[in-house]
Amino acid sequence: MKIGVLALQGDFIEHQKIMEGLGAQVSQVRLPSDLKSLQGLVIPGGESTTIGKLTMDFNLMEPLRQFAREHAVWGTCAGSIFLSKDASRQQPLLGMMDIKVERNAFGRQVDSFEIDLDIPCLKKVSDEDTPFHAIFIRAPLIESVGKDVEVLASLPDGRIIAAQEGHWLATSFHPELTGDTRFHRYFMEMIQ
Ligand code: GLN
Repeated sequence: MKIGVLALQGDFIEHQKIMEGLGAQVSQVRLPSDLKSLQGLVIPGGESTTIGKLTMDFNLMEPLRQFAREHAVWGTCAGSIFLSKDASRQQPLLGMMDIKVERNAFGRQVDSFEIDLDIPCLKKVSDEDTPFHAIFIRAPLIESVGKDVEVLASLPDGRIIAAQEGHWLATSFHPELTGDTRFHRYFMEMIQ
């Protein structure tokens, strides 16, 4: 399986290592030609305004949109913001997923937190019944989702932090920063 990681900014190496460990052939995407022959793409966490600006500078916006129309794309944290149609403010977005996000919804860097969550969709890829350890770093919240979007995970108070719309996946936390590979396996299942 050939998967790309958008490698303009952010923690793409962590995603790459995990998916390579799961047997995927992973390559870094910086140019439109890097998308050729990939079956899926991960947009990492980092800073969504920077990712958006660099996407414009590298002439990647349209090629990425075209790729996303036909392939699986997963955005984590800043990547989920970039994948969304609405970030509640003006900034360059891929604008694919019908979700509205609120950036930095939990406050500043010092307000980052970790929490164990029960995420039912992960049972598709694993018999493990343990909760998923979710790491939030200046994370966005998925404020609302469109009618074709499935909510995959919420915080105990009901606020949405993971969603899927067809072949697009958004998580506002960082599965690439834990040793738990279930979310990456879930995305690889989506590709297949
Ligand atoms: N706060 C960042 C943003 O709004 C996202 C942080 C992250 O990806 N960990 O783009």
